[in-house]
Order: sequence, then C-alpha cells, then structure tokens
Amino acid sequence: MLDFAALHRALGEAACRFDIDLIEVCDSTNALLLARAEAGAPSGSVIVAERQTAGRGRRNRPWFSAPGESLTFSLLWRFAPGRFPAGLSLAAGLAVIEALAKVGAGKTARLALKWPNDVLKDGKKLAGILVELVPGAPQAAVIGIGLNLRLPVALPGEVRAMSAALDESVDANALLAALLVELAATLEILGAQGFAALREAWRTHHAYEEAPICLLSDMAPPREGICRGIDVDGALLFETEGRIERVLSGEVSLRSRP
Ligand code: ATP
Repeated sequence: MLDFAALHRALGEAACRFDIDLIEVCDSTNALLLARAEAGAPSGSVIVAERQTAGRGRRNRPWFSAPGESLTFSLLWRFAPGRFPAGLSLAAGLAVIEALAKVGAGKTARLALKWPNDVLKDGKKLAGILVELVPGAPQAAVIGIGLNLRLPVALPGEVRAMSAALDESVDANALLAALLVELAATLEILGAQGFAALREAWRTHHAYEEAPICLLSDMAPPREGICRGIDVDGALLFETEGRIERVLSGEVSLRSRP
C-alpha cells in the first residue's frame, strides 16, 4: 500500500523537509521515534509503520491498527529555542482534518474535532493523536497519528462501536503526503505565532461547541457541563455549576451528552 517512491512523488518539493523511514513493523512509531529523537534525529524525521505491535494512545491505552487498513506514523518536530507552544495536540488535529479536506477524503460525512485531539467522522473516532515530549529536549515533540482507512478486524466490540473509518478508495501515499505537509505548515504557524493564530480555524471544526458534554477522568467521578469553546492557548472552556473552568489537555476524556 505505502511505497517510498510514490510517497516522495506525492510530496514533491516538500520531500526535502522530511526524513522518512517506512518500516514493516515496530512496537510503536512514537516509542521508536522518541528513542531516535533522544539520539539526535532531526526535526522532520518520520516513521511510518505498516504494523504496530503495541500502538498506544493517551494514558497508555491501546491503539488498534492493521496492515493495509490503517495509517500509523509519527513525526518529530523541534521548535525554535524559547517557550514550547501550548495547543500542540489541537494543532495536530487541525492539520489532520485539513489534510483530509485537501485530498477530498471524508467529503460525504461530517468530519469534526473532539478536544483535545481526536478527529471524528459522523461523531465516531476516525483518527487519534498522541503527542509526547522528547525527554531532555524541551523544544521537541513526537506527534503520533493513527487513522482508520478501514476498521481493523481486531478492533474490540466496545471500541468498534465508537470508531469510524474513511471506507473509501483513497491513495494512501497521497494522503500521507498531505498529512505531513499540513502538519509541517500548521506546526510552523504554531511555533511562530502560538495557538491563538489557529484557534478560529480549530473552532470551525469543533464537534461540541456550545454543546452539553461530560468530562471523564481516571481519578474522579464524571462531571457534566456545557462546552464553551476553547481558549487562546487551547484549554477547553467548561461551564459547570455556573462558572467557566479552563481544562488543560491531559488526564481527561470528553464525551457528548444527550
Ligand atoms: P477518548 O478517551 O475520548 O477516546 P483519547 O484521546 O483519550 O480519547 P486516545 O488516547 O486518542 O484516546 O486513544 C486511545 C483510545 O482510542 C482507546 O482507549 C480506544 O478506546 C480507542 N481506539 C483504539 N484504537 C482505535 C481505532 N483504531 N479507532 C478508533 N478508536 C480506537
């Protein structure tokens, strides 16, 4: 499905911005790229795996994928020295949804962003994103993306019920090229201008703007409230008990409520 020459052709002039390693199998593209980042790999390094044996999402939860049915890859990004920009996970989600639009994928469905970083198709998860900081390199992050081209057969029933796939004929090399180009462009804006420059674009895709939501946490009981959008730094604005709280991404999952 993925082919180095076709990917380079699809990237065109942008190919020189990335150092791409297309591998058959690894435990997790994020784990492998984090190790390479610690050993000094340059910004723009990419690992794409046909198969992950231990793909993971946030809080060490599993990410399920299957060869030929999923796109799973990670990108290393090193920001210029200075403050690490807030809103990186949200920026990555925005890049994914805009790349899908650029290749005309998912046109017949409603694609939307779920805070902080999931891409939904008709309300179900089409793509997940895991951002991890590189230990010892305060300006560097690895951005891992898993996107369902088709639903992996091995997806457990309860996850399947909440998942979606593109389910259309899409050139995987062209899609991956568009994702990389869009990620690089979005991360450049984020690094130069901060998340405030991306906030309005993010909000146009927001699945739960002004909607009743529930926040789930491993540490505390679920909390119900209204989503009042996102702040200039990407924090979720959560109205509950008559006041608006800023929720930072990390330890909570968001769900819609009827
Ligand atoms: P949420 O908790 O709302 O799903 P999250 O951002 O915390 O969002 P992630 O860390 O992105 O979740 O992904 C891990 C979760 O995604 C798993 O716990 C599982 O429910 C779900 N998942 C795993 N594999 C897939 C897949 N291929 N397609 C859709 N969902 C998946």
